[in-house]
Amino acid sequence: MIHEITPHVYDNAFHICTPKDSDVALYYAGKDMLIWQNEGAIDLPRFEQLNASAKENAEYLFSIDELGFYLLKAQPQVCETYAGSITMQPTQLMRSADQWIGFAGITGAQLSRWEESHKFCGKCGALMRHSSRERALVCPECKLREYPKISPAIIVAISDGDDLLMIKSPGSTTNRYHLIAGYVEVGETFEQTVAREAMEEVGVKVKNVRYYKSQPWSFSDTIMVGFTAELDGERTPFSLQEEEIADAKWIRREDIVLGTDSSSIGSEMIRNFKEGK
Ligand SMILES: [Zn+2]
Repeated sequence: MIHEITPHVYDNAFHICTPKDSDVALYYAGKDMLIWQNEGAIDLPRFEQLNASAKENAEYLFSIDELGFYLLKAQPQVCETYAGSITMQPTQLMRSADQWIGFAGITGAQLSRWEESHKFCGKCGALMRHSSRERALVCPECKLREYPKISPAIIVAISDGDDLLMIKSPGSTTNRYHLIAGYVEVGETFEQTVAREAMEEVGVKVKNVRYYKSQPWSFSDTIMVGFTAELDGERTPFSLQEEEIADAKWIRREDIVLGTDSSSIGSEMIRNFKEGK
């Protein structure tokens, strides 16, 4: 999965510090980010490749091993030596880089989006400031405190013996089937979300809901919480939630077609079921 970057170690403890020349500069604009391309390899730009002014207003986000990752608030000037190799590219290109670099790129993007959408206090409209003691934005007028946006969502592998319940989304062009997933509503436990989503999306009652693993999914500001569950009772015709589900099927273990992408918790859970784990 995309966050599994061993032997590298991600450390997101809060610090206020200034970048070293060898540290990484993250700069985002819309769906693009600044990257360094060198003979086909993709990496993230370092401060030593940028003009000294890039260090001004660089905000420390996290480290991976000894490398610090900083968010830039303005597009930096690139040193002449590196002109042309440091360019804005769509963020999906990060999937072509080493996995730990890709993980850093999408994690930084989530924090960048959060800051961009919380420049002003939602209560009184004042300009927000960074907290000096934790990762939060604070209103200097009314003291409203905003933390990074992380939306919890469940994903569930529902089985009935050797069959797995899989669904297809409307507008899907790949004919790919996937697992039931949905955002947690206010006042719910994760287990209640699993039961509600299964009933709402396909009209299926579940039992034996068990936690599997969780996965940060920065592309949608989400933390995915994975569960397994079993069909409760006899099979009945599906009752599809038309806006969200185009089709639903019970698919036998041996008939499941695996996709090539192994970055998501959903793909890992489908593979586990197929392999009888
Ligand atoms: Zn305020």
